[in-house]
Amino acid sequence: MIVDLNFAPPAEVIDLAQRVSDFVKTRIVPYEKDPRWTPHGPTDELRVEMNDLARSAGVFAPHVPKEYGGVGLSQVGRAFVFEAAGYSILGPTAIHCASPDEGNIHLLDVVARPDQRAHFLKPLAEGKIRSCFAMTEPGGAGSDPGMLQATARLDGNEWVINGRKWLITGAEGAGFVIIMAKVDGGPQDGHATLFLADLPDPAIRIERTLDTIDSSFTGGHAVLEIKDLRLPADAVLGEVGKGFRYAQVRLAPARLSHCMRWLGSAVRAQEIAADYARTRVAFGKTLGEHEGVSFMLADNHMDIHQARLSILHTAWLLDKGERASNESSMSKVVCSEAIARVADRSMQILGGMGMTRDTVVERIFRDTRAFRIYDGPSEVHRWALGARIVSGKM
Ligand SMILES: Cc1cc2nc3c(=O)[nH]c(=O)nc-3n(C[C@H](O)[C@H](O)[C@H](O)COP(=O)(O)OP(=O)(O)OC[C@H]3O[C@@H](n4cnc5c(N)ncnc54)[C@H](O)[C@@H]3O)c2cc1C
Repeated sequence: MIVDLNFAPPAEVIDLAQRVSDFVKTRIVPYEKDPRWTPHGPTDELRVEMNDLARSAGVFAPHVPKEYGGVGLSQVGRAFVFEAAGYSILGPTAIHCASPDEGNIHLLDVVARPDQRAHFLKPLAEGKIRSCFAMTEPGGAGSDPGMLQATARLDGNEWVINGRKWLITGAEGAGFVIIMAKVDGGPQDGHATLFLADLPDPAIRIERTLDTIDSSFTGGHAVLEIKDLRLPADAVLGEVGKGFRYAQVRLAPARLSHCMRWLGSAVRAQEIAADYARTRVAFGKTLGEHEGVSFMLADNHMDIHQARLSILHTAWLLDKGERASNESSMSKVVCSEAIARVADRSMQILGGMGMTRDTVVERIFRDTRAFRIYDGPSEVHRWALGARIVSGKM
């Protein structure tokens, strides 16, 4: 039972969200026609240009810790600000709250040693470099991370890492990578561990950048071959053998941030569809006066409302220090599926125009489709939740 709910953010968070909203609508939406927004995401040149605008407008990276220039937003604060940023698919990149950097900043803030914070976290949080997180493997770790195949063997004072990774967002052009590999040999044989490695490195080859349905992440999604990568013994992030635990530290808030950002895109799709329904006439009246269309707008509104409430509840629990793994799983499924329905209905309301790139709705539809896969496919969350219900743990 849910009791004692209070999601009200402080006035300064509302003010910040409003400023982000104004910034994205006036300064970033015009970039949606920029040719530097490619099928593999906005180029680094475009990203840096938008970041500079965000800095000038005082809305750059508000979520990062105060020591790196942010205001250290709470999860509830992020819900408001990230939704405002997501109004344009380019908004999160512009204010530097996009994946995977946003999740990596959180992970490093929780786990990294002081020297690792100085070397990796500081330039990342300040937007001087990008990063990537390499867990998924062709035929190996995926929905089931336990199938991890990449290995890390201790050779004297160095780790030697080998493996192949794929779908690695932002690898092309990243300043470093967090690699998940299992220890090969010794007392912790087989234990998943995270490693930090500077990029580029000749031992980490980008085989290719995949052509994917989505196009919102700078650098796209790459296939990596890691061959005899040598890292110093202290390149481990956190403790040896705790890779899965740290991945969860990253994932619960990171998947919720995706929900927040994509909710902003759903709001945008609904606005565009509602505008069209108000003005386009068919069979002697506006589309919106036809019940078949007004019902779709009402369903969109309800999906958006339910997604927002689910996000706020999970965010509020995380702010209270709870792990909220069940709630973050539920939010991920509820939001990714509700947002997809909103994008789909909005395209339907737009008719033929909805199939074109004359509006951004078609792009929102494609980008949000991928969200039902990454950070755990819907079925995996349902399966995990179902298993906990059946065993009486929920
Ligand atoms: C756009 C995008 C960006 C990504 N970025 C990254 C990244 O930066 N770093 C990274 O490491 N990975 C990344 N990934 C990989 C992503 O995390 C995986 O694709 C995801 O975890 C699913 O793994 P898989 O692709 O191996 O699917 P599989 O494990 O092969 O699963 C395929 C399908 O099987 C079904 N399934 C699996 N298990 C169950 C179950 N228990 N019950 C019922 N059905 C099940 C689901 O429908 C699932 O979609 C990204 C993926 C995408 C699409």
